[in-house]
Amino acid sequence: MMPPILYAGLTLDRAHPIRRDGDIVPLMHQEGARYLPYWRGRQLVSMSPPPGAVLLDRDTGLALAEATGGSCLLLGMDDAGPLLGLDISALDAGEEGPDLGGRWVILRAVGGLLPSQEAALLAYARGMLVWREKTRFCSSCGGGLIFQDSGHSAKCTNPECGALAFTRSDPAIIMLVTDDHDRALLGRQPIWTPGMYSCLAGFVEPGESLEDAVAREVWEEAGIRVRSSSYVASQPWPFPQSLMIGFTARSDGGEPVADSHEIEEVRWFTRYARPRSWNPGSPVRADADGTAAAP
Ligand SMILES: [Zn+2]
Repeated sequence: MMPPILYAGLTLDRAHPIRRDGDIVPLMHQEGARYLPYWRGRQLVSMSPPPGAVLLDRDTGLALAEATGGSCLLLGMDDAGPLLGLDISALDAGEEGPDLGGRWVILRAVGGLLPSQEAALLAYARGMLVWREKTRFCSSCGGGLIFQDSGHSAKCTNPECGALAFTRSDPAIIMLVTDDHDRALLGRQPIWTPGMYSCLAGFVEPGESLEDAVAREVWEEAGIRVRSSSYVASQPWPFPQSLMIGFTARSDGGEPVADSHEIEEVRWFTRYARPRSWNPGSPVRADADGTAAAP
């Protein structure tokens, strides 16, 4: 059986009929409303057992929304009431972030330490709030936007335009390439911590199927031809807005050649090989803002 996939499997009711009705304000004031805050790319968690997302109560959330003018959106509904995402980035605070009873963290650095539903909830909220943070003007005419669907879409306010903008997930592929000698093709980027290697990955381009993208990326990054590929599973990857789509792929082998722009080294590994500078104690390094130049 396949193990659980980090950030996937969220069971929260996304309340599509409710959010389609549109107005976020009554939901913000509703009894039992709770707020999941977002501050300058970071989210609030409690790491003391049990670790998880810190939810602010209704009155705290409303006060912060009023103080910051922060954008708010509906994430979903549970038995207690609405669950809302709130961007309070306008709040001035030191490096530690606003004192709201938890630690402000970059999800990518701690997601694997959280229970699966907590990690998935934070990933969903992050994806929504980053989209909202970056969606400030109409991409067709540069006009202003008004958010609707409880924060899940936006409409251009220019009456001659009226374009709609929706949340998005950019497809990215990641693939375990093997050859007939039971070896796996792994590469590393220069910014990674020493000894860290990964399956190759990349973004899907217009005019490509997922399988096309797998073959192209392996060729571009390693100079290796893939003869077949098979879908395995997918993963929300809100860093900042990808859907990671996992494949296995088979190759006839050959000597890999690293693409020096993205990959500094790419090699075939047997099951028993260790990278030359392997250090299992090295912490995984996350980019300062939690985003990645490439998946
Ligand atoms: Zn427009």
